Amino acid sequence: MVRGNNRVGRLIQATIKVDRRGCWIWQGGKFGSGYGCLVMGGKQYGAHRASYEAFVGPIPAGMLVCHTCDVPACVNPSHLFAGTYRDNAQDMIRKGRQRRGRIGPLWVDPTSCSFVKLTWNDVHEIRASSESHRALAARFQVHIKTIRRVRAGRTWKPRNANSPHSDLGEGRA
Ligand SMILES: [Zn+2]
Repeated sequence: MVRGNNRVGRLIQATIKVDRRGCWIWQGGKFGSGYGCLVMGGKQYGAHRASYEAFVGPIPAGMLVCHTCDVPACVNPSHLFAGTYRDNAQDMIRKGRQRRGRIGPLWVDPTSCSFVKLTWNDVHEIRASSESHRALAARFQVHIKTIRRVRAGRTWKPRNANSPHSDLGEGRA
Protein backbone atom coordinates (compact mmCIF):
# COMPACT_ATOMS: atom_id res chain seq x y z
CA MET A 1 0.00 0.00 0.00
CA VAL A 2 2.99 2.24 0.49
CA ARG A 3 4.39 1.50 -2.94
CA GLY A 4 4.51 4.28 -5.51
CA ASN A 5 2.65 6.53 -3.15
CA ASN A 6 3.79 10.15 -3.46
CA ARG A 7 1.72 11.13 -0.46
CA VAL A 8 3.89 8.85 1.63
CA GLY A 9 7.02 10.40 0.15
CA ARG A 10 5.82 13.89 1.04
CA LEU A 11 4.80 12.76 4.51
CA ILE A 12 8.24 11.29 5.07
CA GLN A 13 9.99 14.42 3.88
CA ALA A 14 7.86 16.48 6.25
CA THR A 15 8.76 14.25 9.21
CA ILE A 16 12.55 14.31 9.05
CA LYS A 17 15.51 16.45 9.95
CA VAL A 18 18.63 16.09 7.84
CA ASP A 19 21.76 15.75 9.93
CA ARG A 20 25.38 16.52 9.07
CA ARG A 21 25.95 13.08 7.59
CA GLY A 22 22.95 13.49 5.31
CA CYS A 23 20.83 11.11 7.35
CA TRP A 24 17.11 11.81 7.28
CA ILE A 25 16.40 11.44 10.97
CA TRP A 26 12.82 10.41 11.60
CA GLN A 27 11.06 12.87 13.91
CA GLY A 28 7.87 10.86 14.40
CA GLY A 29 7.19 7.92 16.66
CA LYS A 30 9.77 5.22 17.00
CA PHE A 31 9.81 1.54 17.69
CA GLY A 32 11.70 0.28 20.73
CA SER A 33 14.55 -0.67 18.43
CA GLY A 34 15.00 2.94 17.32
CA TYR A 35 13.47 2.47 13.88
CA GLY A 36 11.02 5.13 12.82
CA CYS A 37 7.36 4.21 12.96
CA LEU A 38 4.96 5.50 10.36
CA VAL A 39 1.27 5.08 11.10
CA MET A 40 -1.09 4.95 8.15
CA GLY A 41 -4.66 3.80 8.14
CA GLY A 42 -4.25 2.60 11.71
CA LYS A 43 -1.36 0.29 10.77
CA GLN A 44 2.27 0.70 11.79
CA TYR A 45 5.05 0.56 9.24
CA GLY A 46 8.79 0.80 9.59
CA ALA A 47 9.46 4.33 8.36
CA HIS A 48 12.66 3.22 6.60
CA ARG A 49 10.72 0.50 4.80
CA ALA A 50 8.03 2.98 3.77
CA SER A 51 10.75 5.35 2.55
CA TYR A 52 12.41 2.60 0.53
CA GLU A 53 9.11 1.77 -1.14
CA ALA A 54 8.16 5.41 -1.73
CA PHE A 55 11.50 6.50 -3.20
CA VAL A 56 13.33 3.38 -4.40
CA GLY A 57 10.78 0.72 -5.24
CA PRO A 58 9.12 -2.41 -3.97
CA ILE A 59 10.98 -4.30 -1.27
CA PRO A 60 11.69 -7.76 -2.69
CA ALA A 61 9.69 -10.45 -0.90
CA GLY A 62 11.28 -11.62 2.31
CA MET A 63 13.94 -8.91 2.25
CA LEU A 64 14.80 -6.44 4.95
CA VAL A 65 15.63 -2.81 4.40
CA CYS A 66 19.08 -2.23 5.91
CA HIS A 67 21.06 0.94 6.57
CA THR A 68 24.49 1.71 5.11
CA CYS A 69 24.77 4.51 7.69
CA ASP A 70 23.91 2.29 10.67
CA VAL A 71 21.39 4.84 11.98
CA PRO A 72 18.10 3.04 12.67
CA ALA A 73 16.09 6.28 12.68
CA CYS A 74 17.45 7.30 9.26
CA VAL A 75 15.00 7.10 6.36
CA ASN A 76 17.21 8.58 3.63
CA PRO A 77 16.50 6.28 0.67
CA SER A 78 20.10 6.62 -0.51
CA HIS A 79 21.26 5.15 2.82
CA LEU A 80 18.97 2.14 2.48
CA PHE A 81 19.44 -1.16 0.74
CA ALA A 82 17.40 -4.33 0.54
CA GLY A 83 19.13 -7.30 2.09
CA THR A 84 18.38 -10.70 3.50
CA TYR A 85 18.12 -11.47 7.19
CA ARG A 86 21.53 -13.08 6.88
CA ASP A 87 23.04 -9.99 5.23
CA ASN A 88 21.63 -7.83 7.96
CA ALA A 89 22.82 -10.07 10.79
CA GLN A 90 26.31 -10.27 9.28
CA ASP A 91 26.35 -6.53 8.67
CA MET A 92 25.42 -5.89 12.29
CA ILE A 93 27.96 -8.33 13.64
CA ARG A 94 30.59 -6.70 11.46
CA LYS A 95 29.62 -3.30 12.81
CA GLY A 96 29.47 -4.63 16.38
CA ARG A 97 25.89 -3.57 16.71
CA GLN A 98 24.30 -6.89 17.60
CA ARG A 99 22.63 -6.79 20.96
CA ARG A 100 20.09 -8.87 22.75
CA GLY A 101 19.25 -10.81 19.62
CA ARG A 102 17.66 -7.93 17.81
CA ILE A 103 18.77 -8.20 14.25
CA GLY A 104 16.23 -6.42 12.19
CA PRO A 105 13.17 -4.30 11.84
CA LEU A 106 10.89 -7.23 12.54
CA TRP A 107 12.35 -7.62 16.01
CA VAL A 108 10.65 -4.51 17.25
CA ASP A 109 8.21 -3.83 19.97
CA PRO A 110 5.23 -2.28 18.19
CA THR A 111 3.56 -1.22 21.40
CA SER A 112 6.31 1.26 22.11
CA CYS A 113 5.80 3.05 18.83
CA SER A 114 3.54 5.84 19.82
CA PHE A 115 4.73 7.30 23.09
CA VAL A 116 7.08 9.80 21.52
CA LYS A 117 3.96 11.65 20.43
CA LEU A 118 3.81 12.84 24.01
CA THR A 119 5.56 15.85 25.42
CA TRP A 120 6.86 16.29 28.94
CA ASN A 121 3.81 18.41 29.74
CA ASP A 122 1.59 15.52 28.67
CA VAL A 123 3.61 13.13 30.80
CA HIS A 124 3.23 15.30 33.89
CA GLU A 125 -0.48 15.60 33.20
CA ILE A 126 -0.86 11.85 32.75
CA ARG A 127 0.99 11.15 35.99
CA ALA A 128 -1.06 13.69 37.91
CA SER A 129 -4.38 12.53 36.47
CA SER A 130 -6.82 10.20 38.17
CA GLU A 131 -8.47 9.25 34.88
CA SER A 132 -8.37 5.68 33.65
CA HIS A 133 -5.63 4.40 31.32
CA ARG A 134 -8.25 4.09 28.63
CA ALA A 135 -9.55 7.65 29.00
CA LEU A 136 -6.03 9.06 28.89
CA ALA A 137 -5.09 6.91 25.89
CA ALA A 138 -8.08 8.31 24.03
CA ARG A 139 -7.35 11.88 25.10
CA PHE A 140 -3.68 11.80 24.10
CA GLN A 141 -4.25 9.58 21.06
CA VAL A 142 -1.74 6.99 22.15
CA HIS A 143 -1.85 3.28 22.88
CA ILE A 144 -3.16 2.27 26.28
CA LYS A 145 0.16 0.50 26.93
CA THR A 146 1.89 3.81 26.42
CA ILE A 147 -0.11 5.32 29.26
CA ARG A 148 0.65 2.33 31.45
CA ARG A 149 4.38 2.63 30.73
CA VAL A 150 4.39 6.35 31.41
CA ARG A 151 2.56 5.90 34.69
CA ALA A 152 4.79 3.06 35.76
CA GLY A 153 7.83 5.24 35.06
CA ARG A 154 9.17 2.74 32.56
CA THR A 155 9.38 5.43 29.91
CA TRP A 156 9.93 9.16 30.24
CA LYS A 157 12.37 8.95 33.10
CA PRO A 158 13.64 12.27 34.45
CA ARG A 159 17.23 11.63 33.35
CA ASN A 160 16.00 11.87 29.76
CA ALA A 161 14.27 15.17 30.30
CA ASN A 162 16.11 16.84 27.45
CA SER A 163 15.74 14.01 25.02
CA PRO A 164 12.35 12.37 24.81
CA HIS A 165 13.64 9.78 22.32
CA SER A 166 16.63 8.62 24.26
CA ASP A 167 14.77 6.24 26.50
CA LEU A 168 13.70 4.11 23.56
CA GLY A 169 15.40 0.82 22.92
CA GLU A 170 18.66 0.64 24.77
CA GLY A 171 18.67 0.84 28.50
CA ARG A 172 15.20 -0.55 28.90
CA ALA A 173 15.23 -2.60 32.08
ZN1 LIG B 1 21.50 7.62 7.12
